[in-house]
Parts: sequence; structure tokens; C-alpha cells
Amino acid sequence: MPVLVMKFGGTSVATLDRIRRAAKRVGVEVAKGYDVIVIVSAMSGETNKLVGFVNETSPLYDAREYDAIVSSGENVTAGLMALTLQEMDVPARSWQGWQVPVRTTDAHSAARIEEIPTDNINAKFGEGMKVAVVAGFQGISPQGRITTLGRGGSDTTAVAFAAAFDAERCDIYTDVDGVYTTDPRVESKARKLDKISFEEMLELASLGAKVLQTRSVELAMRYKVKLRVLSSFEEQSDDAGTLVCDEEEIMESNVVAGVAFSRDEAKMTLVSVADRPGIAATIFTALSEGGVNVDMIVQNIAEEGRTDMTWSCPVDQVIRAEKAMEKAHEEGIINYQELIADKGVAKVSVVGIGMRSHTGVAAKMFKVLSDEGINIKVITTSEIKISVLIDRKYMELAVQALHDAFELDKAA
Ligand code: ADP
Ligand code: ASP
Ligand code: MG
Repeated sequence: MPVLVMKFGGTSVATLDRIRRAAKRVGVEVAKGYDVIVIVSAMSGETNKLVGFVNETSPLYDAREYDAIVSSGENVTAGLMALTLQEMDVPARSWQGWQVPVRTTDAHSAARIEEIPTDNINAKFGEGMKVAVVAGFQGISPQGRITTLGRGGSDTTAVAFAAAFDAERCDIYTDVDGVYTTDPRVESKARKLDKISFEEMLELASLGAKVLQTRSVELAMRYKVKLRVLSSFEEQSDDAGTLVCDEEEIMESNVVAGVAFSRDEAKMTLVSVADRPGIAATIFTALSEGGVNVDMIVQNIAEEGRTDMTWSCPVDQVIRAEKAMEKAHEEGIINYQELIADKGVAKVSVVGIGMRSHTGVAAKMFKVLSDEGINIKVITTSEIKISVLIDRKYMELAVQALHDAFELDKAA
């Protein structure tokens, strides 16, 4: 039998009624003759609640216990989905990650999937089971402990299963009907794209468009998984939603494909460190060992042998960064005057493969922001994206102004 992977995100399984609606959709595919692997998220809000419990109990938590706690939301929905399908006379069974087992690295809270054996589930398909419901987001480490794949990780579980089972398609059911030129919650003129290239989707995702987890796009690109994003709230035709595909499959595209943003960033500056070879290595090694994911980096002009080092990181990692720098200071590894944390910044980015062959995108972006009176704090670029750090209070304004200026509401 051909295999289909269907993933339902948090809002699509938020209530028993929504689970029933999702199950009905699964039933439709079963009736077409597919063996279906359903990947479920936790009910919406559930993972946030669990993360909140962890932070309240222990701000510098042990990541192994974090994973044990936050992975539990998916266990509930997997069981409920299997029960709902059984009530509809569809033979179904649930699996938690460790039961499959979804083997991952031991990088707790950000683990990578290494292997998904197919024999267990295939044996059940062989016995007449039609749907395997698998808890997304979770796996098991080489040490036998529960791991999670990072926020939004059920997308990655879905694509990894599609690759492992050589599925015909991986359908990501969510609360929007596809990938848009930007988050439709921030810009009402955002336009749904019928297709988007893997590379652009990869950039958008890594720059904050949470419609797909970055790693899921990476895996889909590598294993040539046919990946589609569509709504679980509306009736869907076979070509509904957005197909994430190779660049060659897209005939016309705008220079800029989309605008992404990441709201909860912080900008940190280490004031007056020695300007000598190895200082950057020392600082960023200490931050990395402290569990801080540094994004942008700027080293300021040196004066009298001293310089300032600036970086950005997720705002909830500021405490970790402060602790790491204090420790390095106490141990005499890094000498600095003070560490300033600006917790009120956001990152806004424009993305498009057209930038490879078109100049002037950066200039236009900076002009648009300056016309709105928005000050740029840090800039980074790559071949197909430009990102800026700005005050968080201007984030929506920046996204809307850029969406307008690059005419993203109009198709190419
Ligand atoms: P799920 O719970 O189904 O995984 P998510 O909340 O993780 O859903 O992702 C869907 C959300 O992603 C949408 O509701 C939307 O607000 C947001 N989003 C951000 N950028 C985009 C974009 N470019 N296109 C579509 N949705 C986007
Ligand atoms: N429930 C997890 C989260 O909220 C995983 C997911 O939904 O993809 O991050
Ligand atoms: Mg998600």
C-alpha cells in the first residue's frame, strides 16, 4: 500500500471536536487506499504551559527533565487520535517516540533524528492496521532518555517519517491554508503562495516563520519529500495549500519571496574587552558552553586596545548569557567592564532567491525603514536574505512597510 504522512498541529487537535474533524480527514485518505502515518502535536497551548512549569520550577533547568516534561503533551493527543479513529471503525494504534523508536542524538531540547526503524509499524500495517498515530516532537537518546526536537518539532517528525517510509506525500495540516508572503496575522495583505522553493522556505523558517520548523525543510530537501502545507479547517482539494518544492518547478517568482520576523530577540553588548587575537573565540566558546544560541555578531571599532562585542540571541537566553559571562569573568578568562542587555528588539528579514541576480534589495529595505523612522541596530546578509535588528515596538510596522514596498501582495 502507498503510505501517506499527515501531520496535525496544535490548533488542529486543540479540542476533542477538532480531533474528530482531523480523524475524519484521515479516514478519507484511508478510504482512498493509503496506509496513513498520522503525526500529532500537543493540544494548542499545552507545550507552552509545560515549558512555563519548567521555568518556574528551575530557571536553569536540567534539559533531560525539560524533555521528560514538555514531550508529554503529544502523548495525550496521540492516544486520543487513535481512540477517535477506532470509534470510526478505522483500525488505528498510537506510538510514543520511544516505542517506534525514533532514535535521536542526546542534544536535549534540540535533538536531531538519526534513525527511524520501519519494521514495527510496517508489521502492524501488514496485520491490517490502517493508521499509525505517532506522537510528534519526541524521540529517545542513545542513553535511553526521552528527547525533544525543539519547538515546532512535530513538523520534523512528520518529514522524517515520510522519508523513512518513502511516503507519497507529507501533508502538514495547520491553522493557515498554506505558506504566505509573510505571517497573515501581522499583514492582512499577505498572499498565499502556491509553491515555494526549499531554499526560500528554509530561510523563512530559520528567520522566524514558524509555519514549518527549519529542520523539517532541511530534511524534505535532502530526502526529496513531497511537502505540502494546508489547512485542517477547510475542505481541501488535492492541489490545495502550498507545495514546498525545487526551485526548477517554479516558473515565475518575485525577487523577494517573503518577509519573516522573530519577535523575542535580545541584543547584548560586552563593553570594553581586550582587542586581541582569540577574544572572539573565548567569548563565543563561553556562550556556547553556557547553552546560548548566538545569532548576529558585531565587533565594534577598537580604541586603545579595547573593543565592544555585540551579539543577538533569543531573549529567554539572556540569563544564561549573563551567567556564562560572569563565570568567565570570575575565572579570569574574560575581562570586561559591563554587559548590557537590550531585551526589546526584534529581527525582520526579507528573503528571495531573486536576490542572487538582482541588486538594490538591501538599499531599498534600508530606505523603507528609514522612511518609517525605524532605526537599524544590527544588519546581516547572506546570498538570499537580509536581516535587521530593530526595536520590537516597530516590528509590525516594518513588516507591513516592507511587504508593501516589495509589492508582495501581487504575484510575479
Ligand atoms: P501548528 O500548531 O499547526 O504547527 P504553527 O503555529 O506552528 O502551527 O504555525 C502556523 C502559524 O505560522 C500560522 O498561524 C501563522 O501565524 C504563522 N506564520 C508565520 N509566518 C507564516 C507564513 N509566511 N505563512 C503562513 N503562516 C505563517
Ligand atoms: N508541541 C510542540 C511545540 O509546541 C511541537 C509542535 O507542535 O510541533 O513546540
Ligand atoms: Mg508548528
